[in-house]
Amino acid sequence: MNERLQTKLKDFATSLGADAVGFCAFDAPPSPLAPTLTHAVSIVVKLSDAVLKTIDSAPSFAYFQHYRTANALLDQIAFRVARVLEDEGYNALPIAASQSQGKNRPYNGVIPHKTAAVLSGLGFVGKSGLFLSAKYGSKVRLATVLTDAPLESELPVIENGCGDCNACMKACPAGAIFGQVPTKDGLRNIDPEKCSRYMKEHFQEVGRGSVCGICVKVCPKNKLKEP
Ligand code: SF4
Ligand code: SF4
Repeated sequence: MNERLQTKLKDFATSLGADAVGFCAFDAPPSPLAPTLTHAVSIVVKLSDAVLKTIDSAPSFAYFQHYRTANALLDQIAFRVARVLEDEGYNALPIAASQSQGKNRPYNGVIPHKTAAVLSGLGFVGKSGLFLSAKYGSKVRLATVLTDAPLESELPVIENGCGDCNACMKACPAGAIFGQVPTKDGLRNIDPEKCSRYMKEHFQEVGRGSVCGICVKVCPKNKLKEP
């Protein structure tokens, strides 16, 4: 582990607005886009409690705008963290918070951000398929920087902590959440096609059906501020 570099990256990302930063090494290159990059920086940005509370049985415009702003902030942080890694002599690929890969790879990004975040010990994947930060619950967005810098996790992997809760499954209007404890990438315990179709059919007015946020909001791990 390169402690000096990890401290530098963490301090830098935090100064740019990251709420949590972690590091991990993969057993194998996680993306064919960058076959020599087997390590990652995972970056977490927390969403606003007040904005999440504007979501009811449908997404709000406030949530859609906030979601896009959080993604833009994450993209800026990842971009600049990658530049620091390059200045240190390493290769670095920043991966955007929102990772559309076109029609041939629906519901798949370059890598699942949540896998890097879990391997970095920052949280776990919930029954909702969302990443739940150990500190903030599901009220977060993520970005990742893949690199060949020898970064290592500073924290142990956290096991799923959903317990008997099924709030997300009960609240999902699409019936897309099965209520199963997920694998670490969380891609096999919800039906992303069902989720996407419901959003497109019912939430077209807000961001052309690209966001919902109901399962993000209802998670009790968020501990949303009262009132
Ligand atoms: S985003 Fe909405 S439709 Fe999709 S899984 Fe979550 S609650 Fe269900
Ligand atoms: S709502 Fe409950 S079951 Fe769903 S992710 Fe959160 S803690 Fe887990």
